[in-house]
Amino acid sequence: MKKHKDLVHFLKSKGLRMTPSKEVIIQYFLDNKNRHIPFKDLQKELYDNIPDVDRVTIYRNIEKFVSLGIIQELDLPKKGKIYQYVFEKKVPHYFICKSCGKTNKGNEALFNKIELALKEVPDFSKANLSLVFYGFCSKCETSL
Ligand SMILES: [Zn+2]
Repeated sequence: MKKHKDLVHFLKSKGLRMTPSKEVIIQYFLDNKNRHIPFKDLQKELYDNIPDVDRVTIYRNIEKFVSLGIIQELDLPKKGKIYQYVFEKKVPHYFICKSCGKTNKGNEALFNKIELALKEVPDFSKANLSLVFYGFCSKCETSL
């Protein structure tokens, strides 16, 4: 299991300078590994720890963490943007109902097939498979 210092090491190896806000974000995601974190929760955590942190810094750090594959951004109907920790972890995939926002974890067998198919794509490797399908749940489908 990855620890705080492993992530700090990883960020440094990518040329990032460690800052108090990055430290807080790392710890927060490690403490909430299995949660969907709305932006406002993350923001609150940062303000609680670093009262003078500015929003631009928060956004930049989040963008950086997303691009490095440490966290993933999902846009859920009704809930808005949420973030989840995905670093070296089996990433769950989702089926999301466009109407009520009900979110189901995807079926692993299906994603294994997609992952296998991705290996055949030329000039592209180490895909961090991140999939969200939007459709309708059975309840909403019948009321359409
Ligand atoms: Zn629904």
